[in-house]
Amino acid sequence: NKDWEQQAADALKSVARRMDIKAYVEQSPLLYELLKKAALHVTGDSRKDGLEAGQRLTAKGYDIGENTVNTEECETATLELTALIDDLGGQGTSARVSFDLSHIGLLPEPELAYMNLVKLTERALGTELELFISMEESAKTEQILEVYKRAASRYPNIGITLQAHLYRTPDDLAALSASPGRIRIVKGAYQESAEVAISRSESLNERYLQLVRQALGDGHRVSVATHDERIIEEAIQRGLLTEHGAKLEMLYGIRPELGSRLKSAGYPVQIYLTYGHEWYLYLCHRIAEYPPNLYRAVANMAES
Ligand code: FAD
Repeated sequence: NKDWEQQAADALKSVARRMDIKAYVEQSPLLYELLKKAALHVTGDSRKDGLEAGQRLTAKGYDIGENTVNTEECETATLELTALIDDLGGQGTSARVSFDLSHIGLLPEPELAYMNLVKLTERALGTELELFISMEESAKTEQILEVYKRAASRYPNIGITLQAHLYRTPDDLAALSASPGRIRIVKGAYQESAEVAISRSESLNERYLQLVRQALGDGHRVSVATHDERIIEEAIQRGLLTEHGAKLEMLYGIRPELGSRLKSAGYPVQIYLTYGHEWYLYLCHRIAEYPPNLYRAVANMAES
């Protein structure tokens, strides 16, 4: 029943947003272990889990992106990201390290996020790594873009994620024409009001494809980050995926058969891996954006 699925998914998302789930899950080791079995989209708690999963995928010919969801405090998150950059940089891979600016200080102080971003970017200079800023809810879009633009004017190795569902995004993209970094286009994972965003639909897909074309036209390297086959097929038809620097990106554990088929057809596919202690927030997001994942989560728990 689609209504029930959607209601359950919305409830989970709002609980996750209020972080109540953190208190519940962490108080009960049993609940923690049980729910973790459901979190198939997360590679594990630790950086080692993320790196090992990355090595397995690299051996199969995928590019990889790593992301951590430990958000407890920004200094800890910055140190974790520094260690991840060192580990991946030491392996000589051309992976991409993604993170939220909120994790490295945006909320107390955008200047702190900027300083931490500069530290991380400088750490990655001289390696094959690219850093990637994730996009958060629309209340933070302006601040995130400001921090990004300042850093991108100094360093070539940072990219940014833009959400096709926000009405403002074509203008935001136009304002980035002087920044050299890669642009990742996503549909948008946050629930937004109808005043600022368009919901999942054919017209969202068309906006998505237009943004890809706009970004390529401005000379950006572009990541088409979606599991939506209709967008991917249309991007192939329109020749967008054979343009310089275009890549497909997919989340770990979501539609792996589609990623494998596209890789076999010769398209560059990057898998976005996530590890971290706060995997339950990530799990809630994935269920909320695709409610049938509820069944898969329950099945995983039952199998364990
Ligand atoms: P949808 O219309 O949501 O899904 C299309 C089809 O894909 C579905 O019908 C289903 O078959 C499959 N599918 C989609 N989601 C799932 C799922 N969870 N489980 C199983 N199947 C699924 N969002 C942000 O707001 N900010 C970010 O910084 C950000 N970074 C991202 C980075 C990467 C590399 C990727 C791939 C996504 C990122 N997202 C981010 C999430 C994105 O905004 C979407 O919420 C997510 O990709 C699902 O949308 P979709 O394009 O796959 O299309």
